[in-house]
Amino acid sequence: MERKVNNFDCKEEKDMFFSPHPVKKDATIKEFYSLGTIIQFKVYGNKAERAIDKATDRIKDIDNKMSVFKDYSQLSKINHNAGIRAAKVDKDTYFVIRKAVEYSVLSGGAFDPTIRPVVGLWGIQTDHARIPNNDEIDAGINLVNYKDIILDEKDSSIMLKREKQELDVGAIAKGFAADEVKNVFKKNKIKSALINLGGNIFAMGNKIDGTPWNIGIQDPLKSRGEIVLSISVKNKSVVTSGNYERYFIHNGKRFHHIIDPLTGNPSEKGILSTTIVSDHSIDGDALSTCAFVMGLNRGMALIESIKGVDAIFITENKIVYSTSGIKENLSLLNNDFYYEN
Ligand code: AMP
Ligand code: MG
Repeated sequence: MERKVNNFDCKEEKDMFFSPHPVKKDATIKEFYSLGTIIQFKVYGNKAERAIDKATDRIKDIDNKMSVFKDYSQLSKINHNAGIRAAKVDKDTYFVIRKAVEYSVLSGGAFDPTIRPVVGLWGIQTDHARIPNNDEIDAGINLVNYKDIILDEKDSSIMLKREKQELDVGAIAKGFAADEVKNVFKKNKIKSALINLGGNIFAMGNKIDGTPWNIGIQDPLKSRGEIVLSISVKNKSVVTSGNYERYFIHNGKRFHHIIDPLTGNPSEKGILSTTIVSDHSIDGDALSTCAFVMGLNRGMALIESIKGVDAIFITENKIVYSTSGIKENLSLLNNDFYYEN
């Protein structure tokens, strides 16, 4: 079947807009660094600036609560008190960690927010990135177990059972933040916006001309900005986990940031990237990491079992696979890849 090739909306916007009550035709754009990544808002409408200010505050608030790198964050409070006592947290942090535990259960432990001790050993994208030895890895994975997260909803507190255990919500917090930005925009009467938290995208509403957004999926083998395919969506989250996002190369081998909790090593299931299309970005973020670690067969089966959620897998042998619900919205734009549909 021939598919229409559209312009890629994350790159370029060409809008036609006519109205008796003119709405600012150009997008208001803001870019800044938070949550360990580059955040970009592209917002349409006369109230864009105020909405962007509010959303920026919300992102910074989430980063302050959930960063493992900030000593005063609620997450650090849980980590510092591991094996000692429960730490009180607010409803945002509680919600994100509860969701993380749900996805740990659903993925049979492929997703595990207690992965931090192993992530710390690898130090990927820090100035001390290195390959840990087997003893270090063994000691690290011994500390990883989501079943050791004690959630007390009544008390709004969270405790890690054993000393030296540590949480990391890096695989889910950006999704939560994207949902929260969307909510802030909605409250501020924004109808059309592209929210991009380092590849964790929420395409809010339609484009200003009423047509769907076209979101480009990064070519995992090329530098940033080159894409393999585009997906047409309206009011959806599109989140990608890829081995090209954070990594280092040693002796020609790539060591990336998505860790298989079973081995303590970067996940090796023949996957270059997984993309999840869903209504809520928190689900998309968690599931993109789940699917990456589970691999094509188990990952695909998991996503097909969840209503309203779709996935795109790109494998090392340059084959693109997608779930059934999304086939009509996909356009392959790069002939180096083969779309198995
Ligand atoms: P993402 O890019 O959303 O797939 O998340 C990757 C980030 O989540 C990494 O940088 C780690 O901080 C953390 N992480 C790595 N492996 C896992 C895992 N198996 N489960 C949960 N979080 C992980
Ligand atoms: Mg994720």
